[in-house]
Amino acid sequence: MTGTALRAAVLWGTELAVVRGLVTRSSLGRRVAHRFVAGERLEDGISAAHALGRRGIAAMLDHLGENVTSEAQASAAADGYVLALKLIHETEGLHCNIAIKLTQLGLDQSMDLCLENTERVLAAAEPAGILVMVDMESSEYVDPTLEVLRRLRARHQGIGVAIQSALRRTADDVFALPDGAPIRLVKGAYLESPSVAYPSRADVDRAFARLFATLTSRGHPVHVATHDPRLLAGAVRFTERRGLPIERIELQMLLGIREDLQRDYAGRGYPVRAYVPYGAEWYPYLTRRLAERPANVWFFVSNLVRRRG
Ligand SMILES: Cc1cc2nc3c(=O)[nH]c(=O)nc-3n(C[C@H](O)[C@H](O)[C@H](O)COP(=O)(O)OP(=O)(O)OC[C@H]3O[C@@H](n4cnc5c(N)ncnc54)[C@H](O)[C@@H]3O)c2cc1C
Repeated sequence: MTGTALRAAVLWGTELAVVRGLVTRSSLGRRVAHRFVAGERLEDGISAAHALGRRGIAAMLDHLGENVTSEAQASAAADGYVLALKLIHETEGLHCNIAIKLTQLGLDQSMDLCLENTERVLAAAEPAGILVMVDMESSEYVDPTLEVLRRLRARHQGIGVAIQSALRRTADDVFALPDGAPIRLVKGAYLESPSVAYPSRADVDRAFARLFATLTSRGHPVHVATHDPRLLAGAVRFTERRGLPIERIELQMLLGIREDLQRDYAGRGYPVRAYVPYGAEWYPYLTRRLAERPANVWFFVSNLVRRRG
């Protein structure tokens, strides 16, 4: 890293720490979160999914929450998903599946608890034909997450997982994924040490493109989950040049981010899906979105100034 780049990184870290302190769970934080989060209730998520559907964009509902601290919370999270699945199923014309986090379903407590809760969610999703996608959390969760996937995939077809191109290990993990499982390919949202993750953005992007090619040639349906226009275009080009049906991929973006790209691809007939988070536990999600992009911090600060002014 050059001296200037290093100074910029240090400054950026300080700036982010200050903003994180300001965000907390204040009403201002809540207001800023609403740029990226559908609202606090399940109904807010469903309305956002309807609004996307009107623009030809499918949705993936995520009930915010992670790292629960008791069995009761993990079980309540599974109940919440069962309810969401029922509502999705009963709502006519909704193109919607769900995303779950395993630490929300008890992975920190025990593998057995997590398996039991996740299986309960799958049992509710299966008859409704709704896909359940497992988010990938920070690097220490990769092994147990892939283990849960392997065990449940043996009994349920309607489950897939996210993998992160930022992690060095993913280049090997990709060869041990269950055959045919839908895979969401992301860059990775967690701050990781250089011993496990590529520190350079260029390496993360190169790994993303390589992983996409490997996943596609191994027959996985691939969810290309990024707002990076070059990687999205590359995935579309690769698929079309190989003569593969375009339905083998899905272009996925987050609610409130690059809506222009979402509309553009959907308008041209490509399969597009937006990740729609809802719920009261928006704080960790918001801080990850702030960390990804300096402009979001300025968006936050300008709200702060406007409020004080
Ligand atoms: C559908 C979906 C599911 C995801 N699931 C996971 C998961 O399970 N595990 C995980 O670790 N990560 C997940 N992520 C997050 C992902 O890892 C990245 O952190 C995030 O998408 C930002 O990286 P990027 O690929 O968009 O590329 P970047 O290179 O970071 O960004 C490319 C461009 O996208 C826009 N952009 C990116 N982020 C933002 C932002 N926060 N605000 C405004 N504009 C932005 C900017 O225009 C930027 O120039 C998911 C992302 C998506 C889209």
